[in-house]
Amino acid sequence: MTFSLLSEDTATSARAGQLSTTRGDIDTPAFMPIGTYGAVKTLSPKDLDEAGADVILGNTYHLYLRPGMEIIGAAGGLHKFMAWEKPILTDSGGFQVFSLAKLRKISDEGVTFKSTLDGSEHRFTPERAIEIQLALGSDIIMALDECAPGGADCETVRKAVARTASWTERCHTFLEEGDQFLRSGAHFFPIVHGGADEALRRESAETVLPFAGSGIAIGGLAVGEEKVPMFETVELMNSVLPREKLRYLMGVGKPEDIIRAVSLGVDLFDCVLPTRNARNGQFFMWDGTVNILNSRFSHDMAPISETCGCYCCTTFTRAYIRHLFKLNEVLGLRLASLHNVTFYLNLMRSIREKIGDGTFDSWTREKLTALNSSND
Ligand SMILES: [Zn+2]
Repeated sequence: MTFSLLSEDTATSARAGQLSTTRGDIDTPAFMPIGTYGAVKTLSPKDLDEAGADVILGNTYHLYLRPGMEIIGAAGGLHKFMAWEKPILTDSGGFQVFSLAKLRKISDEGVTFKSTLDGSEHRFTPERAIEIQLALGSDIIMALDECAPGGADCETVRKAVARTASWTERCHTFLEEGDQFLRSGAHFFPIVHGGADEALRRESAETVLPFAGSGIAIGGLAVGEEKVPMFETVELMNSVLPREKLRYLMGVGKPEDIIRAVSLGVDLFDCVLPTRNARNGQFFMWDGTVNILNSRFSHDMAPISETCGCYCCTTFTRAYIRHLFKLNEVLGLRLASLHNVTFYLNLMRSIREKIGDGTFDSWTREKLTALNSSND
């Protein structure tokens, strides 16, 4: 199970590659639609496959609480449970548990939290987070990390970096001690933290890199900080991380942020935007976003996009889709999600093609200008 670089852009740090897994190859740069509870909201695995998704993301914390590991285990793992045969990356649950603020207690051993559903108490240790991801049948397993909140003071970030280092080592030891990881053929990605502090980022990368196989994640960004420090950190990571390892920038982002991060050497992305914004009537387009609820679309018999090949754009008019949204018809949410996910996956396909044919840099400048305009 390896990551191979297929071509590298000469004008920027963009790279095209391929991560191989036992459930199929993932062409990079790649985007993962988010299937929090084992479903990408309103879309079927068939929709996702036809839209060109190579991999989706499942949330360990959410799946652990609902439906719970007993039911997913009885189904034969998450792939069988949700009828998705391609790769799944699972997060460690850390990010969600740390978001619980008042409901969790953290120590060097792990984190204890109360379920928001019924108040029951649960404990995630590095070992337990790995055990759950192995039971889910994950193809890319993430290390349990401590996420300092955006804007945290230096001492809090420093402690999170130290704890993440120790937990990453424990995750790795746990994986290596059993034979389940080896049999699964899964990848294990450690996560670099350190907020926007250069010294801490370097220290974090140094401490978790020894446990990285094919890839490594850049965490703790896209948590409310400004864009400038975020891209400065991505640029720093580009100079620090070994070029042969896949780089996964967690939680990013808008199409323009993805293009900029690719130009700084990032290979893998996930974000809730295409599906979440779809439910608010926002459609992603090459020249910005449009909100279908705008009254100027009420008599508009053109498709959402003339150039998009998705079922929504090849079949329905803006006026009809706006009508569905005005009446809260579920079909409207589904068509918007289908278009937005297709848009993101087409964006990644274009990025890979432009890196391959050596025109990524000029294409990027043209697209960033267009994407930054909003049609709302
Ligand atoms: Zn479309």
